[in-house]
Amino acid sequence: MRYPKLRELKEAIRSLVGKPYTTRFPYQPHKPYERFRGKPEFHLEDCVGCTACLQVCPTGAITFQDEVKKGKARRILNVQWDVCIYCGQCQANCLTGKGIILSQEFDLATTGKREDLHQAIEKELALCDCCGEIIMPFDQISWVAQKLGPLCFTNASVLLFYLRNLYLAWLEKFLHKEEKMLRSDRIKLLCPRCRRQAVIAS
Ligand code: SF4
Ligand code: SF4
Repeated sequence: MRYPKLRELKEAIRSLVGKPYTTRFPYQPHKPYERFRGKPEFHLEDCVGCTACLQVCPTGAITFQDEVKKGKARRILNVQWDVCIYCGQCQANCLTGKGIILSQEFDLATTGKREDLHQAIEKELALCDCCGEIIMPFDQISWVAQKLGPLCFTNASVLLFYLRNLYLAWLEKFLHKEEKMLRSDRIKLLCPRCRRQAVIAS
């Protein structure tokens, strides 16, 4: 016959007289521990719409869609909670570090539709002043401009944003697809292809 070890006896007695390890959820609210990884949520103010989180998401829970209508463009980012495995990779690799945060919320059971288990946010996209091609979200360019500080003077598009944030410049749209590039076109918000053409032409 094998006798229980002292350590196991101590644990058994402690369990008999102590409080249970389990909580009374769902009869009582349960507060998870501090570093618990619950439902990921976008934070509109801190997300710049770069899609880095989407690249590292192992399950494809984060998706995006770009829409262009009448010269206005927007990026819609979506996180689908029923596809998420709460690994935390999106938060760990977020460009700003605060754009998507895993909350402490875990009780996602619902009798509604799966499609409703999601959060979508929108970011306005910058378009090339010459060809109308999507460049990147405005917020992302502003973030890069702020990070670079005075170094952003090396790139006219980023510089325009830097000056705009200081209320020293504003953005204008001069769509002229068929026209010849001018020297002045270099000081516009351009996609890489148009910037190359503007530099070569001037
Ligand atoms: S926690 Fe993991 S699975 Fe869920 S959205 Fe983030 S990266 Fe994707
Ligand atoms: S800023 Fe963060 S949350 Fe927003 S798209 Fe980029 S990586 Fe995702």
